[in-house]
Formats: sequence, C-alpha cells, structure tokens
Amino acid sequence: MRLDGKTVLVTGAASGIGEATAKRCGEYGARVIATDVDAPGAEDVAETIREADGDAEAHELDVTEPDQVASVIEAAHEEYGLDGLFNNAGVGHPGEFIEDVDEGVRDFVMDVNVNGVWNCCHAALPLLKEQGHGSIVNMSSIAGKLGLPRQSVYSLTKGAVLNFTRAAAQEAGPRGVRVNAVCPGFVDTPLTDRYFAGRDDPERARERMEEQYPLKRLGEPEEVADCVAFLLSDHASWVTGHGLVVDGGYESG
Ligand code: NAD
Repeated sequence: MRLDGKTVLVTGAASGIGEATAKRCGEYGARVIATDVDAPGAEDVAETIREADGDAEAHELDVTEPDQVASVIEAAHEEYGLDGLFNNAGVGHPGEFIEDVDEGVRDFVMDVNVNGVWNCCHAALPLLKEQGHGSIVNMSSIAGKLGLPRQSVYSLTKGAVLNFTRAAAQEAGPRGVRVNAVCPGFVDTPLTDRYFAGRDDPERARERMEEQYPLKRLGEPEEVADCVAFLLSDHASWVTGHGLVVDGGYESG
C-alpha cells in the first residue's frame, strides 16, 4: 500500500490505533501530522516516524476545542495541502447500566467522540471540497453497529459517527471527497486495558471476550491501521459512505 505524496492528519495519534495508523501512514510514504491532546505523546510518535526516514510533525490538538481544531487543520492545509484525515480520537467509559451513568461522564464521552469528529469534519470538509479531493476516515466501532450492553453512551456516540459518516459522504462525494468509517471490534490498546481493568476479574473477562471472536483473539492496532490506510489511499477510490468492520469475525459470530 502506498500513500506517497499525501499529507495525512491523525487525531488521537499518541496511543493505540491512532499511533499505529500514524506510523503505518509514515511507512507507506505519507507526510504525517500527528495530533493529540497529549502533545509529548504525539511528538514521540512523530519522532519515531522521522527516525524511520518518514516525514512527520506533531501538534497539540484537543478535538473538543473547535477553534484549536480549525487552526491546526487550516495551518496543515495551507502548508501542505491536506489529503487525508483520520478522526480517531475517542474515549470510553466505565461499564454501567443506563440508569447509573453519570451525566458528566455522558457529556464528556459525547463531546470527545461525537463533537470531536464533527469539529474536525466541519473544519476540513470545506477545504477538501474546494481542492476537489480528499479522504476522511471517522472512528466508529462495532458498538456503533450492534449496540453493546453497559456501553450505552459509547454505543450512542459510535452509532452517531457511523450515520454522520454516511451523511457527510453524500454531501462531499460530488466534490471528489470520500468519507468512510471503521468499526473495529476489541483491539489491544490502553483503552481496552482500562475497560478490562474495570471488570471484577480482568483476566477472565479478557479470555471470555477472546472466546467470542471467531479468530479467538483481540485485534492488534496495526490491523485496524492498515484498513484505515487503505481507506485513506487511492486504492479505495470508489469507496465512500462505508463503515468498514474490522472485528475478527465478531459481528458474524
Ligand atoms: P487509546 O486510549 O489508546 O488512544 C486514544 C488517544 O486519543 C489517546 O492518545 C488520547 O490522548 C487521545 N485523546 C483522548 N481525548 C482526546 C481529545 N479530546 N482530543 C485529542 N485526542 C484525544 O484508545 P484506542 O483504543 O487507540 O482508541 C482510539 C479510537 O478507536 C477511539 O475513538 C476508540 O473509541 C476507537 N475504538 C477502539 C477500540 C478498541 O478496542 N481499542 C474499538 C473500537 C473503536
């Protein structure tokens, strides 16, 4: 897979799937703008890409801050011309029944997972539509397709991202811009570690989860990263409005 000549901005690039995708895009020849609310973490990732002879820079970016989002995206576009945007930044929440969810937790998760994607698309779409090309990938989840018990807010946000993706794809398609989503199952990242840590017996909970997957294991961040790189690339030139399920067969199981 090649992304030569493309500039790709990744949100939440300091950890997990965002980190893996930033690094993969660097390996595939893209100039990577690694952004995260964790600025030193994003800089570490950019440094790793540069050490591997890639081209990368890092910026602090909190996706819930519309002014900051607009300024980072506009600056990247002005400097390089933005070809790809991976709206990956997201957060989880403790496993609870709907009636027990704290409103502050609900609002925080909604803000990062939904408004964050909105803010980035709101800033980037006019620029990409004006230049007549570009590819956006939004981070959904199998939770956004299936709805997961005791993950109601998370499911709510990821379902919203998936449907927003379809709407955005229809708006942007006539101007040459593709908008897709990825819907991963459980992937081995710090977010997933935190999820299992909240269970009574984290090790057993993890084993039981793995059993539910036809491939009998959780995903690796790089396995999602390659799917995102595909959607960002010209190899996916006739794919838009799609939610690509990357889940080791969970949905079919
Ligand atoms: P992670 O916790 O390893 O990484 C998330 C990154 O997002 C961190 O670097 C964090 O600093 C950053 N971030 C958090 N809030 C931010 C904000 N307001 N602005 C900018 N950056 C912010 O998590 P991960 O597992 O790599 O998850 C990445 C995305 O993938 C999330 O949207 C998550 O919901 C989604 N996802 C994860 C899984 C999984 O099993 N890990 C499955 C499906 C979807």
